[in-house]
Amino acid sequence: MTICTLPDRKHPSILVEERFDIWARIGDWLQRHQRTIRAIQWTVVAVYAVLLIVPVLLPLPDNTAYLWTDFTRLAQFIFWGIWWPFVILGTALVGRMWCGLLCPEGTITEFASTIGRGRATPRWMTWAGWPTIAFASTTAYGQMVSVYQYPRPTLLILGGSTVAAAVVGYLYGRNKRVWCRYLCPVSGVFALLAKLAPLHFRVDPEEWRNSQLTGAKPGPVNCAPLVPLKTMRGASACHMCGRCSGFRGAIRLARRSPNYEIVHVAGQTAKPWETVLIVFGLLGLVIGAFQWSSSPLLIAAKQWAAQNLIATGMSWPLETTAPWWVLTNYPLKNDVLTLLDGMLLVAYMLAAAVVCGVIITLMLGLATRCLGSWSLARFHHMAQALIPLAGAGVFLGLSALTVSQLRSDGITLPFVGQARVAVLALATLWAATLCWKITRLYTEITGRRALSLVAFCTAMIPANAGWVLLFWIW
Ligand code: SF4
Repeated sequence: MTICTLPDRKHPSILVEERFDIWARIGDWLQRHQRTIRAIQWTVVAVYAVLLIVPVLLPLPDNTAYLWTDFTRLAQFIFWGIWWPFVILGTALVGRMWCGLLCPEGTITEFASTIGRGRATPRWMTWAGWPTIAFASTTAYGQMVSVYQYPRPTLLILGGSTVAAAVVGYLYGRNKRVWCRYLCPVSGVFALLAKLAPLHFRVDPEEWRNSQLTGAKPGPVNCAPLVPLKTMRGASACHMCGRCSGFRGAIRLARRSPNYEIVHVAGQTAKPWETVLIVFGLLGLVIGAFQWSSSPLLIAAKQWAAQNLIATGMSWPLETTAPWWVLTNYPLKNDVLTLLDGMLLVAYMLAAAVVCGVIITLMLGLATRCLGSWSLARFHHMAQALIPLAGAGVFLGLSALTVSQLRSDGITLPFVGQARVAVLALATLWAATLCWKITRLYTEITGRRALSLVAFCTAMIPANAGWVLLFWIW
């Protein structure tokens, strides 16, 4: 098997951009204004704390509450209607600037790390599967407790994560973001989406070597998310904080093709857990999480289960409820999940993950095999081409909350259906384009590449079908 990589050839966009180094200047500005950035970060921490804590102290909003008359509704809208969908979109557009410049958890964990114990990171914490497991668990748990609807689960999940970030920061690392690097539940998703960003901090190995030859010994750079600067090749782990901008004259903020990292870098860096997160998480579990409350399949399953339970004299799963922190339990709002509801919704999300994941895995395997003899590395590389569709799905699901929250306040956004079609179609087309470009790295035979593309496009059907069912059929 031959892998054609382009390690030293400069992309045409790089050559153009070298003449206009506005981006490098922005990177340098970030590097010089770390105090301003810190002030902004602590302001975000303060706003975050208010949005998280104050709604818990207020009574639940009634049906007459509007975004502009009720603080709890406003906080919900900011968290789930603006913050999350636009952080997802922003990461795909400018890399992980949210993480490096604004994220309150990142700020808190890094501060805790400056005053903490400074212990070495334990080995178990560096296991690559944590971000995927944490993302899947919080997604499923969030649905069980209706995190999008109520302030207490929001405080529990987001606040719990923040406390964990602070504790990990206090115990491990010195001025570092060990939490963000290894454990944050969304770091896996951000790391994938950042690969699409047309901006990154680029390391020029030649400039680095030249700087070393001159004997220059610049002071150390505190890269809080522990990125190995010299060998950094992509935007996945970088938080875009700008601290390394200009280091050894070799690192600078630069433009690149949004396809570049996935096509030319991900083949060597893609990890198995990233494939699991893309295939079973973002293209499976996430669809189930957004679908279950509208699904006629779930209603049919509930009726079938209820009839059978009653017929066998076991009615307790239909009557038993749980505390709000286990299953949604708000009798005054007529919103209570029984044990049966809870089990079915978890089963629904798992079924979506398994059904979509298995179909996608098989089709990706076929797409890989079409290119020649079997290669696991190539399989993981092909999975990376699905990132645009995976990211678009998360954005569509979260932005559906934006749309529904505004609609419940009488604000109907225009062209929502058309916008959703456009996002899905563009993401699908983008993913197919990435696949086509990747296939060229492995074979020059057009027939093999075309067959591989067909199998890859088949792999995208379950995810597209899931969103079509949710937005247009159910
Ligand atoms: S590599 Fe590290 S120091 Fe450089 S911009 Fe990224 S996060 Fe900041």
